[in-house]
Amino acid sequence: MKQVPHRIYLPEDRIPRQWYNLRADMKEKPDPLLNPGTGKPVTLADLEPVFCTGLAKQELDDSTPFFDIPEPVLEFYRMYRPSPLIRAYNLEKYLDTPAKIYYKFEGNNTSGSHKLNSAAAQAYYAKAQGLKGLTTETGAGQWGTALAEACSFFGLPLTVYMVKCSYEQKPFRKSVIETFGAQVIPSPSSTTSAGRAILAANPDTSGSLGCAISEAVEKAVSTQGYRYVLGSVLSQVVLHQSVIGLESAAALELIDEYPDTVIGCAGGGSNLGGLIAPFMRDKLTGKANPEIIAVEPASCPSLTRGKYAYDFCDTGKITPLARMYTLGSQFMPSASHAGGLRYHGMSPILSKLYHDGYMKAVTAEQTKVFEAAVLFAKQETILPAPESAHAIRCAIDEALKCKERGEAKTILFGLTGTGYFDMTAYANFNSGAMGDFIPTDEALAQSLSQLPQIPGIQ
Ligand SMILES: *Cc1c(COP(=O)(O)O)cnc(C)c1O
Repeated sequence: MKQVPHRIYLPEDRIPRQWYNLRADMKEKPDPLLNPGTGKPVTLADLEPVFCTGLAKQELDDSTPFFDIPEPVLEFYRMYRPSPLIRAYNLEKYLDTPAKIYYKFEGNNTSGSHKLNSAAAQAYYAKAQGLKGLTTETGAGQWGTALAEACSFFGLPLTVYMVKCSYEQKPFRKSVIETFGAQVIPSPSSTTSAGRAILAANPDTSGSLGCAISEAVEKAVSTQGYRYVLGSVLSQVVLHQSVIGLESAAALELIDEYPDTVIGCAGGGSNLGGLIAPFMRDKLTGKANPEIIAVEPASCPSLTRGKYAYDFCDTGKITPLARMYTLGSQFMPSASHAGGLRYHGMSPILSKLYHDGYMKAVTAEQTKVFEAAVLFAKQETILPAPESAHAIRCAIDEALKCKERGEAKTILFGLTGTGYFDMTAYANFNSGAMGDFIPTDEALAQSLSQLPQIPGIQ
């Protein structure tokens, strides 16, 4: 039998030229975004002051299955895509499992993660519309870096609100973003009324993604010619990230493989939504029935312990309402939780699919995640991002189950990025100083009690 190579690269003629919109094949669509003022579904006119027009249209379109990737974005992708699909031979051998493990590695670019896939698209559409600049937020820093790269390439000024604890813990992330010419402001800041209100209520806050979103949106809508962009959660972002799954499916097809299990870490849901897109399509259309697993941190468990309800996408309560699994927009994960995956909500697309039973979700505790990260680094020689290591943890657990049961499953997981900017967390783990934090039921009930009341809906 021909041995499958370690790295499976796609030839030019198999490279995806369209993004796939998973919503098109969902019999029941995700519930629409609501305008918080009127309680009615948002319209293009509602979104246009905040988002650039091309992206607002993608956000609202739940029926067009494929969108052409604009040629300049395809050209941009060519600088770092297709990303490799890798067979984890050494990990398999170490685990002594009959399972075949494949991972799609998205860390081969300076931003170090999959986020560049959507950043390139968003910067391109904004430039094509003639906008003057963009604002955004960044948590762990990967999105800010990715967008700074894309904006500098397409020639757009960018202001990044960076969650304060990351700003302080990751000075090199900030320097990378600044190197690409973007401005970085620690959030909460006094540059916006949302930031000032949060600081007045809680002067020592280490910040949160939700709060940085409020600031970035406010800055965009109050600056002439500016718009806001978001790196996860939104359906447009899941659309752009479908390139991950489409490439994976094409590469697996080249070697006559199809996954029994597809695993991804879930923060706001963009990499997972992108990775699973073609496989979920097969599931929705009855062509195949792969098992799909979302892995979230035990410290920020929106799918597994949140509520499926309409909520704000930000702490400052200025964004549209999205129906999603949420811990409440006021939820703040423990400061001891390292890395990303700190968002209170989850992509409305994934939330709906999970709610309707098309996928599973599991949680992983931080120390178990880092154990998996270190094991993976030693076997496969890639230092993973802590976020990605959630998927590694689950893939290892699934492979060990296969060993127990003597099952030779094919497992695919998303290795979303590298961990070079997370060395403080690795150092804590290595020295034994890292702990696990799991929010109490009372704490979750408290933040969930503040969900918005919408007459006639909830
Ligand atoms: C941002 C990020 C994630 C989580 O975001 P999703 O939108 O859930 O994909 C995961 N891994 C890495 C490396 C990231 O930068």
